[in-house]
Amino acid sequence: MKDPDCLFCKIVNCEIPSEKVYEDATTYAFKDINPQAKVHVLIVPRDHYRNVDELAKQDEHQLAHMVKVAQRIADREFNGSYRLVFNTGEDAGQTVFHVHAHVLTGEPLEE
Ligand code: 5GP
Ligand code: ZN
Repeated sequence: MKDPDCLFCKIVNCEIPSEKVYEDATTYAFKDINPQAKVHVLIVPRDHYRNVDELAKQDEHQLAHMVKVAQRIADREFNGSYRLVFNTGEDAGQTVFHVHAHVLTGEPLEE
């Protein structure tokens, strides 16, 4: 399940460099290129899903695993506190159509 034109598929496959934060057999996490918090990490499945809605329908186990990875990153970076964001659809600000969780942590966040 790869999309040859997808930016995050290319990052997962190391065709485009990224700053890795975490990886396992199904999941890859890397620093956002334009951070919106002290720690801003993107968590993606290695497989290509267009958005979180598609992922939830097709592989809810993978979705739950992404939340666990977010918790692990926040435990390491900031006492377990974090914000988890899935922009879903162009009108919600999604710009890359390979599902990704934004993990914002590392400092107190504004509401
Ligand atoms: P979206 O707007 O789709 O929810 O989030 C896409 C995110 O990907 C943005 O926060 C943007 O900064 C990040 N991004 C876009 N291109 C790259 C890239 O080439 N490398 C990395 N590390 N992040 C990227
Ligand atoms: Zn992709």
